[in-house]
Amino acid sequence: MRATIMYGAGDVRIETVPDARLIEPTDALITVSRACICGSDLWPYNLMEPAGTGRPMGHEAIGVVDAVGADVHTLKAGDVVVMPFAFSDGTCIFCHEGLQTSCVHGGFFGSEEVPGAQAEAVRVPQADGTLFVLPAGADDALMPSLLTLSDVMGTGHHAALAAKAGPSKTVAVVGDGAVGLCGVIAARRLGSERIVILGRHADRTVLARELGATDVVSERGEEAVERVRELTGGFGVHSILECVGTDQAMLTAIGIARPGGAVGRVGVPHYAAIPASEPAFYNNLTIGGGPAPVRAYIEELLPDILEGRIEPGRVFDRVVSLDEVPDGYRAMNERESIKVMVKP
Ligand SMILES: [Zn+2]
Repeated sequence: MRATIMYGAGDVRIETVPDARLIEPTDALITVSRACICGSDLWPYNLMEPAGTGRPMGHEAIGVVDAVGADVHTLKAGDVVVMPFAFSDGTCIFCHEGLQTSCVHGGFFGSEEVPGAQAEAVRVPQADGTLFVLPAGADDALMPSLLTLSDVMGTGHHAALAAKAGPSKTVAVVGDGAVGLCGVIAARRLGSERIVILGRHADRTVLARELGATDVVSERGEEAVERVRELTGGFGVHSILECVGTDQAMLTAIGIARPGGAVGRVGVPHYAAIPASEPAFYNNLTIGGGPAPVRAYIEELLPDILEGRIEPGRVFDRVVSLDEVPDGYRAMNERESIKVMVKP
């Protein structure tokens, strides 16, 4: 089968690899109908040291179940399923607490042991706990929005929860990528009415407004902090969704927080220590967040997608074949595209 392998910064190749197959009795094998390129894939795309053995890429997918292992009981061949970016057994103490990204038998897609979903097929460990059967056909018109349940919509929702967004809360979203845009949807969905997006790309902030943002701040750094304070009577915002992962983004997030506010961070941190420790302390800020347990959120978010109340699929602005995936990485990296969907 063909799959996406990254060998180093800027070096993404489509290669013929051994077919995905069942290994453990708890595995399922799915044929990938849709996958994505993720903003987090751009970190290795920019920073990965050249490697002799490449890294199989992709952690978001919708697929059709092809085969299941002997210990898989809730899935059958032909089921259309969404695959969260982390696999989880669904039965351990952390899964019961709704924190599937800490599952004791869990892990992440996109490694040598558990290859990625930017491929024709993928082996899904802990299939009963991981996969969610969708009440939809593989070519449903809602497919783009359903696909976001594998990562970006669940991640935006997680950021909004960690930032304690809700009615009567003013919200700021740091970052105008797909997760930030889904964060706008999530904050709106939770009842926040004033939602400020911090972003510099006009195409993205226009979409952010359509999705529920009320204010756009295109300044950066200290100027962005001043601008948000101006917009909020000098006090800052209650809830900040940090959807980037740089120390500058976290510095801005803490800088625009109102005393007693909360920062929900979902951008994979590329810094060793959280900055601005003193203002965070003296303002009694809550800093929360982490990898989103998106599996826990599918049941809650799905009805809103099926009934058209939210349209997170609007973050996709390009569809590529598997052969075009390397150019999809380039387009996202150059901010020519917000988020790329892959149709193998
Ligand atoms: Zn578990």
